[in-house]
Amino acid sequence: MKKSKIWLSSPHMGGEELKYIREAFDTNWIAPLGPNVSGFEKDLEEYNGHGCRVACLSSGTAAIHLALILSGVKRGDEVLCQSFTFSATANPIIYQGAKPIFIDSESDTWNMCPNHLEIAIKDKIAKGIKPKAIIVVHLYGMPAKIDKIQEISRKYNITLIEDAAEALGSTYKGRRCGTFGDFGVLSFNGNKIITTSGGGALVCQDEIVKKKAIFLSTQARDKAPHYQHSEIGFNYRMSNILAGIGRGQMEVLDKHIQLRRDNNKFYQDIFSNIEAINVFRELNDNYFSNHWLTCIEVKESIGKVSKEDIRLSLLEENIESRPLWKPMHLQPVFQKFDFYGEKVSEDLFKKGLCLPSGSNLTDEDRKRIQDVITKLIK
Ligand SMILES: *Cc1c(COP(=O)(O)O)cnc(C)c1O
Repeated sequence: MKKSKIWLSSPHMGGEELKYIREAFDTNWIAPLGPNVSGFEKDLEEYNGHGCRVACLSSGTAAIHLALILSGVKRGDEVLCQSFTFSATANPIIYQGAKPIFIDSESDTWNMCPNHLEIAIKDKIAKGIKPKAIIVVHLYGMPAKIDKIQEISRKYNITLIEDAAEALGSTYKGRRCGTFGDFGVLSFNGNKIITTSGGGALVCQDEIVKKKAIFLSTQARDKAPHYQHSEIGFNYRMSNILAGIGRGQMEVLDKHIQLRRDNNKFYQDIFSNIEAINVFRELNDNYFSNHWLTCIEVKESIGKVSKEDIRLSLLEENIESRPLWKPMHLQPVFQKFDFYGEKVSEDLFKKGLCLPSGSNLTDEDRKRIQDVITKLIK
């Protein structure tokens, strides 16, 4: 009999989600507005703190798109973007007819390298094109060096967008990821730390910007009894049903972060005696990662065992693992755009693997994973 599948990261309901959905049915708020949407927004605003405002949307990708529009990014503009990420970070730059400029990562946080960012800005300004925005990512839940990046964005007066789609609950120097930039982006896709099955949110700094984001996400209707439009709008608002799932998930968010962090500890222990494998973790106490996914870097093959051998052996036991994100500057669709950096993200892609990290992993799951690994690496 085939063993049950162990996923990289699968939805994990807390139990109260159905209560909020039932409320939506009982009150007939089956629409992209209603009390769950505003309730979920309030929950997220309180959770993230720092007076931030949150607009719930249909996806994290929609949130990045609106952040670019609200940053004034237009056709022909250039946007500085972390190369080591999921394609959804960069795609909205193209939706706007703008050009991404990819920036390499640094080896300690795996996120945007502040030095290469500044080199790119100086080079672009010298060539007479000042980039319009910076998109930094907190990949796998690990905070980027966001204070340095923020300093650069202020020095050159360029809008900062933080893609915190994988980093809800992570903090840098005690402050939540997504609240540093002019805009922050959250995702509640099925595999993220909390899920609404699909959904996202835009984090911003004040109520006026939030109102504008909601206006754009609901087809940009002017104030009039008839339908009147002076701007192009989008159908990007979150549904009240899905927001109900989000409200239930907020009740278990901190518990789920602890469980993901426990998974990271589990992998640290398994690999503690293996020099060639580095389990990705925080640099120091300034960083608090939600450890959405735990990743390993296989620096050199262990005896005859390569990174791909680990992946295939897990797969044989019906356990999912996955190579790290392939950098955007190496993607066929983005290859023609500028890249500033070296080979940090390229190397990580070659050497890295994401391991099962769900908050719903059982002791039995962990035992199955450990057995495969210890059998392979002896
Ligand atoms: C998931 C993800 C997104 C996109 O979020 P969706 O809600 O799936 O649109 C953007 N950036 C990163 C880094 C992600 O992991």
